[in-house]
Amino acid sequence: QAINPSTTHVAVLAFPFGTHASPLLSLTCLLASSAPHLTFSFFTTSRSNASLSASKTVLPNLTLYDVSDGAPDDYVPSPIDPEGEVELFMKVTPDNFRSAMASGAARADFIISDSFLSFAGDLAADVGAVWVSLWTGGPCSLSSHVYTDLLRDRVVPARCDEEMTLGFVPGLSGLRVRDLPEGVVSGRLDSVFARLLHTMGQEIHRADLVVLNTFDGLNPAVLSDLKTKFRQCLPLGPINLLAPLPPEPDRESCLSWLERHEPRTVVFISFGTIMTPPAHELAFLARGLESARVPFLWSMRDAGRAKLPHGFLERVKGRGLVVGWAPQRAVLAHRAVAVFVTHCGWNSVLESLAGGVPMIGRPFIGDQRINARVVSHEWGIGVGFDTGFVSEKAVKAALEVMVRSPVGEEMREMARARAEDAACAVDGGGSSRANFERLLGLICERGHV
Ligand code: UDP
Repeated sequence: QAINPSTTHVAVLAFPFGTHASPLLSLTCLLASSAPHLTFSFFTTSRSNASLSASKTVLPNLTLYDVSDGAPDDYVPSPIDPEGEVELFMKVTPDNFRSAMASGAARADFIISDSFLSFAGDLAADVGAVWVSLWTGGPCSLSSHVYTDLLRDRVVPARCDEEMTLGFVPGLSGLRVRDLPEGVVSGRLDSVFARLLHTMGQEIHRADLVVLNTFDGLNPAVLSDLKTKFRQCLPLGPINLLAPLPPEPDRESCLSWLERHEPRTVVFISFGTIMTPPAHELAFLARGLESARVPFLWSMRDAGRAKLPHGFLERVKGRGLVVGWAPQRAVLAHRAVAVFVTHCGWNSVLESLAGGVPMIGRPFIGDQRINARVVSHEWGIGVGFDTGFVSEKAVKAALEVMVRSPVGEEMREMARARAEDAACAVDGGGSSRANFERLLGLICERGHV
């Protein structure tokens, strides 16, 4: 029996914390604008919806819905218990999504979820929908969760060397025990995140389709192993290039400031939306920037400003620009930028790679240590401070190597080659573009996978 394609409904379920929802909404906007005859509904919390720049994109066939965040009205997120709000949210799942979906548009034919939301598999099974699971991070961190049971078997933290490499996990031989996200083999294995990710690693293979925010060739060994684990695996990233967000406003004139600098001379610093290094590390970084005498642009939240060495902002006036928020994608694409000092969140890593900018990694939590290791040891386009900024001298030396030495120039060349690979992947005929077309085709034909 012929099915009228105009009735196809795609429900998209986001994980509302950190920057998770952003690539999912970008991808949804691209699908919705490519398939104007289909209906798309995007579900996340009201705070998450309000924070997404893509939520301002108006498409007649895409509606954003709020789901409950599970927090009491007078709830104030605690800086010392960041998992608190995740826990409240997870407690009201999946009923919050279920009721928002029931009050929203028609029954879903496709459910595209953040992979963190493993229950989406059951929601899809309940209504006979196809389940598409999007892993917004990198393939190596996904692999660490898929292989958590094996890792827990082989790695007993009390008895093992943190430097031990993970050669027994396909594709992860370049990583060490110490790079693993907390909650895989060390730290609290029963924390909200550890349980959520453990379940995710066990359930994701049930998805009809797993979509990855990476591209063929970037981490070939781990990707080819993951492809054997899933029914269908479509790497279609970098999503920031495949489905670019509209340019961000440049309220503090970062781009015109960059215009005044020679190519490849400026250090850009940002630790993402959540992390602020501890005060002593900020002091080493600030003093290292001062003594290396390099121009720098630093995106810093108020929490960081309060911890800067006394008089720093005065002393670096003219050479350094410190802003509350930078249009990071455009900054990293600017020719003046020589190196990115980053916490190695996956979005930041992909944006740096897309701009051909090598990195100085200072990872903190979650997948950031894995990403930092991949950047420095697999791709060879950066150096890492995986135990933190240890001294002014070490920061100064790293900046000098990356900005002024042939080693830094070589890394910039390699980063530029990666940037070209990424651009080719999302271009017509590229592997990510082809995988996107395949996903679109399946949805448009209401195909079963
Ligand atoms: N970002 C930005 N301007 C800033 C700081 C961050 O645009 O001043 C954006 C950045 O481009 C990236 C995201 O915030 O897309 C951070 O994501 P990532 O995964 O790197 O880190 P998280 O914030 O999730 O730790």
